[in-house]
Amino acid sequence: MAAPVVIKKEKVDDPRPSASADAGEGQTEAEIERRMIELMGEFPKGINDKILETDMPNVDKKIKVAILNRLLSQEKVNIFRAAVTKELFWCLKQQPTSKLKGVDSEEKIVMRIIEEAGNKGIWNRDIRTKSSLNQTTLNKILKALEGKKLIKSVSSVSAAKKKVYMLFNLQPDRSVTGGSWYSDNEFESELVDVLNQQCYRILQQKAEGAKQKPLEGPLIVRNASFLSSKEICQIISDLKIVKFNLTVEDIETILDTLVYDGKIEMSATTDGYSDGQVKTYRTVEKLLSSAGIVRIPCGVCPVIKMCGTVGAVQPKNCVYYDQWLD
Ligand code: SF4
Repeated sequence: MAAPVVIKKEKVDDPRPSASADAGEGQTEAEIERRMIELMGEFPKGINDKILETDMPNVDKKIKVAILNRLLSQEKVNIFRAAVTKELFWCLKQQPTSKLKGVDSEEKIVMRIIEEAGNKGIWNRDIRTKSSLNQTTLNKILKALEGKKLIKSVSSVSAAKKKVYMLFNLQPDRSVTGGSWYSDNEFESELVDVLNQQCYRILQQKAEGAKQKPLEGPLIVRNASFLSSKEICQIISDLKIVKFNLTVEDIETILDTLVYDGKIEMSATTDGYSDGQVKTYRTVEKLLSSAGIVRIPCGVCPVIKMCGTVGAVQPKNCVYYDQWLD
């Protein structure tokens, strides 16, 4: 899939994305552009229309095309057509070789190791192991490459003090930043709780609406109580609860927590147009309430292995029981 495509370049008045102008659904063009670059980092082989449509269903196609054309004219991305499917793909452009001028051989080795790590980045210790350089030399090289804006360091949410290195033009992967639910490496628990409740309420309303047509039979009522993650994403976006560009993937992570809590169920289906999977969700009506024994805190206690009659964790001073009994 590498047949080159001839791009017709047109003159644009201002090639910069509008940082403040609303490009639809509450997102600015700058935010959409940032997300596109992030996606190209997640899909090093390129992104196509289908990936863009799944990730940002609320964004007008004309706006997407305008942003991609601008990125092409700024030479930040490449475009190519898949040999078999003839689909268009966009991918991030490699670092121009001119930027590598003045980079010595040790720096090139480190650059190559960092490049291989993609947008997930690589930890200092792993670079040292792979390059066999000593720590002092490696630190000097990393500092020099950062100074030349060829690489950057990013704090990882998985460990507060852990920094990973990646190429300067890459947007960090969700596993590094934590995705939309982390702000400055802090988990946005309140926002997640609000969205969790909102998603559940939306599915409850859908189920109640479906029950208004009992004459059509239980199967039709059941099927009518499902909503796809894309539809839920659209409803939440319309409610403008969040200020950033909410993706279907973000909503699916919230819906997953409801599935694990046993409040809703997920079903995978196809939309009949694409070969991709569509996830649909509905509330679960419990026919029997769960037995008391499975509702006590010990059943899901994260420190059960440390709990006993001696030591720091004891049933008599258990905070989980205090919360549960309140
Ligand atoms: S008593 Fe409290 S700390 Fe001990 S296992 Fe149960 S929930 Fe966990």
